[in-house]
Parts: sequence; C-alpha cells; structure tokens
Amino acid sequence: MRRQPMNENAPIAPNNLEAFWMPFTANRQFKQTPRMFVAAKDMHYTTSDGRQVLDGTAGLWCVNAGHCRPRIVEAIQKQAAELDYAPAFQMGHPKAFELASRLAAIAPSGLDHVFFANSGSESVETALKIALAYHRAKGDGARFRLIGRERGYHGVNFGGISVGGIVGNRKMFGTLLTGVDHMRHTHDPVRNGYSSGETEHGAELADDLLRIATLHDPSTIAAVIVEPVAGSTGVLPPPKGYLKRLREICDQHGILLIFDEVITGYGRMGTAFAADYFGVTPDIMVTAKGLTNGVIPMGAVYVKDEIYDAFMGGAEHLIEFAHGYTYSGNPIAAAAGLATLETYKEDGLFERAKALEPVWAEAIHSLKGEPHVIDIRTIGLIGAIELEPIAGAPTKRAFSAFLEAYEKGLLIRTTGDIIALSPPLMISEDQIGEIVETLRGILKTLA
Ligand code: PLP
Repeated sequence: MRRQPMNENAPIAPNNLEAFWMPFTANRQFKQTPRMFVAAKDMHYTTSDGRQVLDGTAGLWCVNAGHCRPRIVEAIQKQAAELDYAPAFQMGHPKAFELASRLAAIAPSGLDHVFFANSGSESVETALKIALAYHRAKGDGARFRLIGRERGYHGVNFGGISVGGIVGNRKMFGTLLTGVDHMRHTHDPVRNGYSSGETEHGAELADDLLRIATLHDPSTIAAVIVEPVAGSTGVLPPPKGYLKRLREICDQHGILLIFDEVITGYGRMGTAFAADYFGVTPDIMVTAKGLTNGVIPMGAVYVKDEIYDAFMGGAEHLIEFAHGYTYSGNPIAAAAGLATLETYKEDGLFERAKALEPVWAEAIHSLKGEPHVIDIRTIGLIGAIELEPIAGAPTKRAFSAFLEAYEKGLLIRTTGDIIALSPPLMISEDQIGEIVETLRGILKTLA
C-alpha cells in the first residue's frame, strides 16, 4: 500500500509497521495481524498482549542456553561500558584472541584457527573464499569448483545461495556463482521414514561427489559443503556412513570438506559439534547462532592447521588473506561468546542435550499416527514432523499449525509442510511433554 511521505517531525506511532521490511516473512499478511515478542526469560517469550510462549525453536535455532541468561547479559553490559569497539584490521583486543583459543580448544582436533564473521551467511562466504584461496596459495589455482547439495541451506549471500539447494532462495537472482554443482539430497522417506538418529539407507549417495568430480575432473574441485544435518529444509539426518564416505572421497581427491554447523554447532547434537557426533572431522567448519547464544550477531569459521599455514608464507608485512569485516571479533560479541561458552559449561548443557536425546525422540515420535502426519525425524535435540500438504495449497497446513501453536502458547517453526523443533538445551522433560501435547491437540483439529 502506498503511503504519504512521512513528516520526519511527526511522532512515530508505536504500531506503525510499514517501514520495517521483514526478512523471510509474508509482510502484508504479518502486518494485518502482527505477532510481537516484548520480553524473554529462560524457556519462554512474553508477547505484547502479555502471554507466555514456550520456545520450541530456540528463537531461530540459536538461543541454545535459554533466554536472558544473567552471565551473558552481565558480560555484554560490562564489555559495552569498558571497550565498546576496537578496529579489527591491524589492531586487536584480548577477548577476541581468548574466544578464538577457547573455541579451538572445544573444536575437533586440528581445527585450531578461527576467523570471525557476523552471521552464518558471512561465515559461509568466508569458508568458500578460504577454500578457493587456499588452493591458490598452494599453487593449485585450477581448483575453482564448489559443490553443494540439493536441499542445502547455507545462508542468503551469493556464495551461500549458489552452493545451497533451495530453488525458492535462488530463482530471483539470476546466474549466481559459476563453477558450482550439486549432489542429490539424502532424504528418502520411503526407505528411511520415521527415523531417529542417522538413517539406515542412502550412504551410497555420497558417491554423487565422485560422479561430479569425475565429470569435471577431480583436480578442478576446490571444496564440497554440506550441513551434517540439513536443518532449514526440514531436518534431514545423514544416512549412516554418508559423511565418512564424503570424507574418504575428499581425501582421495584433494577436495576440502566444509561442514556448515550453523545449526548443529554448540551442543544441539549433545556434543560440541556434529563433527563429534558423527566422528567425521571436516577441513573447515562454519558456525554462528549458538556461538553467542543468538544474543549478539557473530560467526566463527574454524580451519585446519594446514590451511592456515598455507596462507602464512610470503613477506611478513603483507596481509595474508584479503578478507574480513568491520565487526570481525567485535569486543561485545567476543564477550558474549565467552560468557555463552561458560554458561554451556557451568550448566552442563551439551551433556544435558545428550541425555535428553532419547527422551526427546520418544516424545516426538509419539505423534506418529496423529492426523496429517506422514513422517517424523529426530536427531540430537532437533525434530521434524512432516504433514501431508493440502492439495493445491502447499505449506498452508503447517502454517496454520504454526499460527495455532502461537495462540496456544508454543513457538514452532515451519518449512514447507514440515514442523521443525529445536528447543533451548535447558528444556525440562515436562516442557518436552508440553510441546508434544500442544501439537497433538492441534493436529487433531487441524483442517
Ligand atoms: N547455514 C545454515 C546451516 C543455517 O541454518 C543458517 C541459518 O539458519 C545459515 C547458514 C545462515 O545464517 P544467518 O541467518 O546467521 O546468516
């Protein structure tokens, strides 16, 4: 709707919703019936009409430690008053170095160097650029191809949507990066329906990498990027042995393996990273979200020693990698990251997620047989309930469930006709039961 130009001296009505162009949102629909959170504590949001909403999604898969945790709040307040900003280029401040060291200490062995960005998307771009530049640094510039996967989500910047496999996120933007190819996704509801943990069938799909490498000549492939568990496209756990097979093919052909752990990192799987859960170590690991408990934007890209070392030749006064952000390693983000790691440790949240995994799986799978449910998948503290789409109106049924859940005091997320769940790791068994029973009630009455 066209509005009159604003008079900048006029008071702004608190309910003026027009100026904010919301991301990944049906703006016109939302603005007719807005849903607003005004506060949060631990497992709950408070809505603008004063209701409590149980957080079944850790915000956007990021608030792993729960909301407004005192240690994190205090660390941010203290840091903002002490050192608000320090340039990241040719200058430093101690907390960024401390955070990088602590991250390297919890990372899989060999991933000892950390490059800071400000989001998952920026971390993906950073990882892809490191991969390309690494091969050049070694004198192997013929490796320029990047391989992703169908149904992969790697954020929204140009590299990420190029290697990503979501047509809706790609089709508005033209040619994207060239030299990109995609493996098939691994989701097979017929052979692997109603799964918990890794799926039984489909490890052979890793050989798509070999097929693509052979087609183009393996010596032209720089890297392959996958989410160990594809999250945003509906929770697609990998088949048993799939990631190990990718690792083998990469090793055989000098291809870098990149794990996008933006969702799976920082305890979501009951381990620090999905790499630990699956026992497969990538060459580069992309993280964000749970790194700062979602509180301050930050991403961290971990790289193996050989990769870092490859950049460290040449004259010492020269910049080794022409990349970085004004806010790389920002002091307040670094303080939030350190306090978040402390909170995870102090509360034993990764161990808690591990202990809850079977409880979670059993509870979510108890929805099998409810109306409209055609598949259920769980792994770590992630779950997906796939609904039969309404004929001719895909996504509508799941979105109705989302709206209804919000009314009943539960935040869920939907992607297509799939309900995705990923609560803060502090969730209690009673609250798991509350999520499941709220959803059961909704499914029984959903059109
Ligand atoms: N990679 C994965 C696997 C994600 O799930 C996401 C976000 O959900 C991103 C990248 C992008 O992160 P951001 O939204 O912080 O840019």
